[in-house]
Amino acid sequence: MGLSRLILLILLGALLYRLWKRWRLQQMNRRKPAIHDQGHMLACAHCGMYFPEQDAVRDGTQVYCCPAHRDAQRKT
Ligand SMILES: [Zn+2]
Repeated sequence: MGLSRLILLILLGALLYRLWKRWRLQQMNRRKPAIHDQGHMLACAHCGMYFPEQDAVRDGTQVYCCPAHRDAQRKT
């Protein structure tokens, strides 16, 4: 095997490695949930504002938009 062939193999390997790295990055980005996908919306039991389910502050069966509203509802 000549030296030029060896260099060609190394260059090909580097190219494949770069392609693989880019592909892996794309796969990782695809796994992230989209920002616009807010899923199920819930209404705050205190102020009635709608917010994404994953941001809910739960207290028994009631849901609130923030801990402050949960605490405010507890006092009344
Ligand atoms: Zn609220």
